Amino acid sequence: MTPTTWPEPFPDPVARPADEPFWQSVQAHRMALQKCAGCGHVRYPAAAHCPQCLSEAATWQQIAGTAELVSWCTFHRQYLPAFPPPHTVAVGRLAEGPLFVAMLLDGAPPDGAAGRALSIDYVTDPEGRVLPAFRQHPAGRDAKEEETQ
Ligand SMILES: [Zn+2]
Repeated sequence: MTPTTWPEPFPDPVARPADEPFWQSVQAHRMALQKCAGCGHVRYPAAAHCPQCLSEAATWQQIAGTAELVSWCTFHRQYLPAFPPPHTVAVGRLAEGPLFVAMLLDGAPPDGAAGRALSIDYVTDPEGRVLPAFRQHPAGRDAKEEETQ
């Protein structure tokens, strides 16, 4: 299992004021997404208006931390010092609905792994910055089953 500390500093996130609550929640290992106060739609990335009902009212809701693997890509060339190859990035559909892109710990999944259960974990770099990442769960087992074992 890949440790939750990372040997190289992560690149700085793109600073958008709307994302500040997101990054604060990630730093606290309690990832939260915007939830529309009008219709309940959970959205990512953060936005000024709900894409479903156009309401400007929103709260921040901590997510369950589970997802389903939609797709993934393994980089065999190094683009950033923090991410030596092979480096796998996945698209997961969070339990709350939004698609989310994050590094996939524990290596590339096997062919046919789409639909596999994922969970959100947190990885800390030497400067103390935290990134959310996905962890895989073997087929037939979900994150909740593993937590109770
Ligand atoms: Zn809405």
